[in-house]
Amino acid sequence: MNVIYPLAEKFISINGEGPKAGMMAAFLRMKGCNLSCNYCDTSWANESDCPTEPLTAREILHWLKESGTVNVTLTGGEPLLIPHVSELIEALGEAGFAVEIETNGSVPLAPFCELSHRPVFTMDYKCPDSGMEDYMRPDNFSLLTKDDSVKFVVSSENDLARAEEITAGYHLTERCRVYLSAVFGRIEPRTITEYMIHHQWNDVRLQLQMHKFIWPPQQRGV
Ligand code: SF4
Repeated sequence: MNVIYPLAEKFISINGEGPKAGMMAAFLRMKGCNLSCNYCDTSWANESDCPTEPLTAREILHWLKESGTVNVTLTGGEPLLIPHVSELIEALGEAGFAVEIETNGSVPLAPFCELSHRPVFTMDYKCPDSGMEDYMRPDNFSLLTKDDSVKFVVSSENDLARAEEITAGYHLTERCRVYLSAVFGRIEPRTITEYMIHHQWNDVRLQLQMHKFIWPPQQRGV
C-alpha cells in the first residue's frame, strides 16, 4: 500500500527549538491538529481547507536525500495523529535520518516508543493559559528519556508556576531535558529569566524560538 502523507509544508531551515536548536534540519509539517491553543501560530495548517502536498514515504525520502540534511523534524499540527505515521518514522530511521517529533502533549507516546527506530520526542506541555491543559497526558512522562524533552509553553507567571509544579511533581529534570518556551508576544523572555532566578529554579532551560528572531515572526516555511 502506498500511503499518502498530507504535508501542509516542507522546508529546510535551522531547528529553532530543542536539543538541536541552531542545527540545520528538514521540517515536515503535517496538516491538522486535535487542539486549539489560543496562541497557535500555525493554525492555518489546521484548517480543513488547508492545501497539502500529498507525498509518499518514498517521495519524502527522495526530497530529504536531495536536501543534504541529516535531521528531520515532524511537526504540525499534530504529526502523531496522521494515519500510518509510524511507517514514515520507521522509513526515515531506516534511511539513517535523525528523527525528532514535535508533539503537542495530548497523544499517547507508548506505541511510538516501541518502534525499531524510536524517534526523539519534544513533547509540549500546554499550560493553563493555553486553554488546552485538560488534554495533556502526564502518563507520557514515564516514557521519556535523556534524549527527549518536555517543553512548557508559557504565556504568563501563572503558567510558569504551573510548569514549576509539574516539573517538580513528576521529577522531570531527572528524566529528560526541560525547556521553558515563551509564547511570542505574550511574555518577555526577561520575565521567565527573572522567575527562574527568583525561584532558584535550576536544571530547566529558557528557550527562544530562534527562527522568529532570524525571520519575520509570521513567516512560513522557515
Ligand atoms: S497544539 Fe500546536 S498546532 Fe495544535 S493548536 Fe496548539 S499550538 Fe497550534
